[in-house]
Amino acid sequence: MNITFIGLGIMGSRMAANLLKAGHQLTVFNRSKDKAEALLNQGAKWGESTAESVREAEVVITMLSKPEVVEEMAQGSEGWLHNMQEDAIWMDSSTVNPSFTHRMQEYAHDYGIAYIEAPVAGSKPAAEQAELVFLVGGEQAHVDRCRPLMKVMGKDMKHMGEVGKGASIKLLINMMLGLNYAVFTETLLLGESMGLEQGLIFDVLTNIHVTPGVIGKLRGKIEQDDRVPNFPLQWLRKDLHLAAQSAYENGESLAILQAVKERYALAEKAGHGDEDFTALYAFLKGINS
Ligand code: NAP
Repeated sequence: MNITFIGLGIMGSRMAANLLKAGHQLTVFNRSKDKAEALLNQGAKWGESTAESVREAEVVITMLSKPEVVEEMAQGSEGWLHNMQEDAIWMDSSTVNPSFTHRMQEYAHDYGIAYIEAPVAGSKPAAEQAELVFLVGGEQAHVDRCRPLMKVMGKDMKHMGEVGKGASIKLLINMMLGLNYAVFTETLLLGESMGLEQGLIFDVLTNIHVTPGVIGKLRGKIEQDDRVPNFPLQWLRKDLHLAAQSAYENGESLAILQAVKERYALAEKAGHGDEDFTALYAFLKGINS
């Protein structure tokens, strides 16, 4: 298939590499060209601009940071919507919010372009090993057209329903991640302040069912103070913000979410935005000591 991939960050570069490995014809575009070098060496074609990159694509996959960036690059005479073939399909894998994906679907419709949302669960290692889980919203026929590509980049695909449903479940997953991790950072800080050793706290808590399974998986990053991002803190904060925005739009009151998202906001403000989100612990430890 003739595919264009836009957004070659931590996730996009690895997803695109798996499409290439599977033998697809791949054109890539990214704001910073240097991130495309490895893919170009493996046979991908460089698109000189967003517009240029999508002209021949049957499917355009986007994996960009946040809604504002997706919207800016999608629209206008240089955007991908204006320049895609009419029967082509746009699959957005960026983590965005459901009211936004509804709007993108309408824009795409105006151009005669099919649209699905397909955000992913799984981080850098899952993207690399093609073990992502796609959380999809869109019309069945459109989803079926993209299914073979998701198979190459992931281990599972859950079609949640119409557009909006994939983005919704993705926000719930990241809300659970962000809140659970923030709770654990406070648990750790309290334990240490009471004189317990960090290793022992991990040993006991990660083997007790009150602790979410993800905490054990993050243990290495916390113990080694490894802040190299699998998932940058600024994007987890963005997702908590989008969850809070969705709560507002749907008339929900989520006090814990509001409080926790400000923890991440403070860490980002202090310069930890590009680090892995697990750097929240180091940040809190710093201001507590
Ligand atoms: P990343 O490495 O920071 O990549 C962000 C991408 O967006 C890059 O291609 C970047 O281009 C582009 N971008 C950012 N601002 C831009 C702008 N103003 N104009 C044009 N392009 C811009 O982040 P990532 O971790 O791959 O995340 C990408 C998406 O996947 C996000 O929506 C994130 O929430 C989601 N996600 C991430 C993970 C994870 O574990 N990392 C897991 C699931 C979902 P440059 O290279 O030029 O900066």
